[in-house]
Formats: sequence, C-alpha cells, structure tokens
Amino acid sequence: MYFYNNPNYMKQVFQGRYWAIERYISGFSNNAFLIACKRTRRSVIIDTPKNPDKLIKAASRYRVEAILFTHGHRDHVEGYEIVNDHFPVQAGIGEPDRTYLSNDLSVTINVETGNSIMIGDITLTPLFTPGHTPGSTCYLLESEKSLAESEPSHIFTGDTLFPGGPGKSSSNIALRQIIKSLESHIFPLPEKTVVLPGHGGFTTVGKSKNEYAHFASHPLDDSLYGNVTWIQSSSHKSNP
Ligand SMILES: [Zn+2]
Repeated sequence: MYFYNNPNYMKQVFQGRYWAIERYISGFSNNAFLIACKRTRRSVIIDTPKNPDKLIKAASRYRVEAILFTHGHRDHVEGYEIVNDHFPVQAGIGEPDRTYLSNDLSVTINVETGNSIMIGDITLTPLFTPGHTPGSTCYLLESEKSLAESEPSHIFTGDTLFPGGPGKSSSNIALRQIIKSLESHIFPLPEKTVVLPGHGGFTTVGKSKNEYAHFASHPLDDSLYGNVTWIQSSSHKSNP
C-alpha cells in the first residue's frame, strides 16, 4: 500500500528556524527521520529500518544524541544494531514494545506521555498511542520558541496514523484502542500540525480529522479490523 519505487534515499522535508527534518526511505518503504538542531548540531533519529547506511551517513554530519522508536515492529527497528554501533546513544521506546528489541540495553529514555525530550533546541513530546502495537508512541516536535514564531509543528506517528486511515490493527479491540489513542492525543492537536507517518506520504491533523469525521458518523462494526480506511467505513473488513 505504501511502496515507493525510489528506495534508499535521504531527503529534506522541513527546514525551519530551529531544526531541520530529513526523511530516509528504506528499500522496504519505511520512513525514518533525522531531526537536527541548527544551533548546536545535535540530532535525534526516529526509527531505524533495514539498510540504514544512508541514514547513518546523513546523521554523521551531526552529533546524534538519541534514537527514538515509534513502535517495535521489525521493519522499524531492524537497523538498530548497525545504527547503535555508529551512534551508541540512549534510546527510547514505549515500554510495552521494549521486548521487540534484541538489544534494549541503551533504552534509558522515558517516553511516557508529556515527558519532553530536549536536545539542543529540539523538543520532542511523546504521546502514548497504543493500538497498532501495545507500546506505539507518537512524538510531537514543537517548542515554545517554534510556536511563538508560528513555525509548523510536526508529529511522527509511526504506524498509528496515515493519510486516509489508522495503521493496521490485529483485532477489533486493537482498532478501538487505536481510535481512542487518536481521539485523545492526535486529533486535539492544531489542524495544521503536519503528520509524518512510518511509511509513505504525509498529511495534516486537520485533514485526518475530516476523514475520520465521516468514519465516526457510522457505528463501528464489531468485526472491523485490519487495514481500515476512514472512507470505506464499516462495510469493509480486511484480513489482518
Ligand atoms: Zn508497525
């Protein structure tokens, strides 16, 4: 669904006053992100997919200080050992997803909701959004200074929210949990907040909320889960 014909490259997606964001796309259509503080050249990596050579090369221009995971699924963590060899820095993952990592020794960053992570001028606020996995966590990138200057805020949603729908759910209970997570933590954000998912293209909170409003106007089918889209709604049931 989210495949790209142009794998393995780094591309800048945002250049602001305080930080820049680059996206790395792996050969398996995963997005990883590199956030760099312009003042201090300190940086943060979000997710470590397979074949992270170009991510490592790009990140070597900065002083990497943290690796954060949106969740523990293999395609988002399988480059971790290689990245950690180059940048043996502290890492953070939603506690219930910690078991997905083969090496969790560097996991010392607390990514509970609201426990902001500050690196140089970069401020990332974790939002615990279980559903796609038990430990799925989104990260909101904004600071008092960036808000004061009306710089756009970004949210890294992993596989919790994509353009057009939530991430894959393994049961109806998981789907309901993901929706609850979105309603509590993502949809209340300002509409212009840019959504940077773990695969494919970007969207905004406002657009996602509009799509979701259509979905939420029908009762939620008890048999619905899997690759759910907001528009296809309750008659659609897909294989998990
Ligand atoms: Zn996933």
